[in-house]
Amino acid sequence: MIKQIQVISLLMLCFMLCSCAPKKAKKQIFAMDTVMNLTVYSDNADEILSQAAERIFELDRLLDRKSPSSEIYQLNKSSSGKTSPYLKNLIEKSISLSAAADGCFDITVAPLMDLWGFYDGSFHVPSDAEIKTALHSVGSDRIALNGDNTALNGTQLDLGAIAKGAASDEIINHFKENGVRSALISLGGNVYAMGRKPNGDNWHIAIADPLNPENTAGLLTVENKAVITSGIYQRNFTENGVLYHHIIDPKTGRNPENDLASVTVIGESGTDCDALSTAFFVMGIDNAKKYLRSHAGIDAVFIDRSGNIAITPGLDGLFETEHEYSIIGD
Ligand code: AMP
Ligand code: MG
Repeated sequence: MIKQIQVISLLMLCFMLCSCAPKKAKKQIFAMDTVMNLTVYSDNADEILSQAAERIFELDRLLDRKSPSSEIYQLNKSSSGKTSPYLKNLIEKSISLSAAADGCFDITVAPLMDLWGFYDGSFHVPSDAEIKTALHSVGSDRIALNGDNTALNGTQLDLGAIAKGAASDEIINHFKENGVRSALISLGGNVYAMGRKPNGDNWHIAIADPLNPENTAGLLTVENKAVITSGIYQRNFTENGVLYHHIIDPKTGRNPENDLASVTVIGESGTDCDALSTAFFVMGIDNAKKYLRSHAGIDAVFIDRSGNIAITPGLDGLFETEHEYSIIGD
């Protein structure tokens, strides 16, 4: 009899737990040139996800520089014009992140991306003279914002290093406004883990091995954080046995001369983490260390081309790997 009561109580508990658990819904979309996976735990999850997908498509229509109907395409084409509040804010934010990162992140790299063939797929190593000429058109100081008008003064904008991070912030805000407390989004590998898992556990986010991206280099335990990676494996081509990838040093017009294979940045703002993953990749680990020392709330995982892994002290105990790794000191 006691056993029967125990079983019934257990069943009732299970039923109560199940009926309290928020509904889980998933959606996969293709936007911003990549596959995006959105998972949300909420009673009206389906509706919230549809709205989130709509917002991402809307952002894509603003920020896709290859689409003739996008706002950024039109701005690049006409060199100056009225700019929507969202785009203006993102340009402003990009300019201030560029200044903070000593120009290592710069949305005016567009002329260089074009030159290397990353815009239209005509990948090739340009000549020194071509790079020198293109560099004359690069630099955030060329952008003039005046009220709702933006003038480009001879440059063009490429928001590829910040758009997905910015989109993740938009989506997480949308979730918050709709009472969601738990969600996981991956915008082409740019992850945002909102809150905790519905069962109260922290999220575990895999970091790809940049030398073998099908494999995992390690797992990060996070709560309410963006986890955003820039790596040599994402877009690249090989010429004469040398791998050239899509992250360009805006000062030299070439891939940065360091040994990094990937940089993952972890923090609360997806926008900042996205810009910083690119910036840290360009500036290298020593200068990234200096940046991190003067900016709280940001952590990073650096993996070099020999597979060495270094993490910031804030990740101590939160990074699991079967490889050796070091913790960056002062
Ligand atoms: P991410 O994967 O976030 O590092 O962004 C790389 C993309 O951003 C490239 O495909 C380019 O479109 C653009 N990009 C490349 N180098 C830079 C740079 N130094 N600063 C800003 N954007 C860049
Ligand atoms: Mg980035």
